[in-house]
Amino acid sequence: MKYVSTKGHSPPTNLLTALTEGIAPDGGLYLPELFPTLDSTTLHRMKGLPFSEVSRIISQHLLGGELQSKNLDELIHESLNFTTPLCEYQKDIFGLELFHGPTLSFKDVGARFLAHLLDFLRDKDDQPLYILVATSGDTGSAVAQGFFDKEGIQTVILFPSKGVTPLQESQFATLGGNVHALEVSGTFDDCQRLVKSAFLDHELNKKIKLGSANSINIGRLLPQIFYYFHAYGQLSADRETLFSVPSGNFGNLTAGLIAKRLGLPVRGFTAATNINDTVPEYLNTGLVRPRKSVPTISNAMDVGDPSNLARIEYLYQNDLANIRRDIVGSVHSDEETRACIRKVYESTGKILDPHSAVGYLGIKSGISRFGPGPSVFLMTAHPIKFRETVEQETNCVMTVPESISSALSSKRQVVPIGPNVSELREFLLGQPQSRQKHQSNFQEAN
Ligand SMILES: *Cc1c(COP(=O)(O)O)cnc(C)c1O
Repeated sequence: MKYVSTKGHSPPTNLLTALTEGIAPDGGLYLPELFPTLDSTTLHRMKGLPFSEVSRIISQHLLGGELQSKNLDELIHESLNFTTPLCEYQKDIFGLELFHGPTLSFKDVGARFLAHLLDFLRDKDDQPLYILVATSGDTGSAVAQGFFDKEGIQTVILFPSKGVTPLQESQFATLGGNVHALEVSGTFDDCQRLVKSAFLDHELNKKIKLGSANSINIGRLLPQIFYYFHAYGQLSADRETLFSVPSGNFGNLTAGLIAKRLGLPVRGFTAATNINDTVPEYLNTGLVRPRKSVPTISNAMDVGDPSNLARIEYLYQNDLANIRRDIVGSVHSDEETRACIRKVYESTGKILDPHSAVGYLGIKSGISRFGPGPSVFLMTAHPIKFRETVEQETNCVMTVPESISSALSSKRQVVPIGPNVSELREFLLGQPQSRQKHQSNFQEAN
């Protein structure tokens, strides 16, 4: 399978190049060249299968040309070693729990798969790869954990100072080793802009090899397709499903659109956002107005200029009417989100994190546009990650799972930088000595 750029001015490329470049030379984002439809027998075979099995079938379908099936098995076994259960909230309304990975966020799915895939495909004798990632919280933790200790890969996490929770920060800033945390005095959009300019900086790219692990990376999108099929596999009925996707950069939703393209029976999608509503506004008005992000209680979705909109437009050939046939927008304030957490807790005893609550709220718009039937909202984070908000609304006291509490007391190691490219360059170019050392140690060890 070749990968093409959404801008169409770069030649189709192979998977490894698409994974390491992250962004295409023409500034576009990579997508598979083809979306081969799954036959209905294969689709039905997924009913009742565990997440790992469903992932094996879809990855075989998409990546079978690049990796042998025993390698794919190993990849999935190592990276997707948790599950994505579906839980019923009301008749025909289900939450898809995507937060059972090591950082309790759905981003573990994409980040771990990408890290293992890159590790698998890369030539170990190559020069070190610098993975650059902008994060508003969850990406940083998931990527840091996914890439930690991967040979020949340095991971650089850019995060907005004051923009992430202490728990999130503890998950990427305490690892050390090949994981570097850069605290940017600015917003998430500044971090994202810095990463983009580093990739477009020809001088810098001549000196060091950069790679990306943001949701622009196709290696993160691909495994996210798997859990849409796993959701379908867990539904007893064979009716078309509505998916309500709490969205920020829109990678998650894009993966759903691809799943539909591959043959998943879908009624429609809700693009559910907090008040950072660039995409819902576009769906309503046809105008794309990127803007500064506004802070909310669902901070992982505070994105004013969502990169994956380029992929959505490409998938629908820039035809807004076509996009509207599949996606409806739904915008929710912090007040609504808080009220939703309260209401769901009172009526079901279940606790939603603020992002999942936005997804839950989006079901209503989805049903009014696409009609009744099985409806799944994607649950993108464990409520403990947004403990303060959740405890306020439910009056519950939550305990931090043992698996992540130890990081909270570990020592943070961060490097502060200003919101400008030159400081980022300086940091990256200040690394070569340790890189050389790393390399020679590595050779000696071999
Ligand atoms: C990143 C994130 C989102 C948004 O996902 P996108 O793919 O960027 O739209 C939603 N919820 C949580 C908890 C996240 O970490």
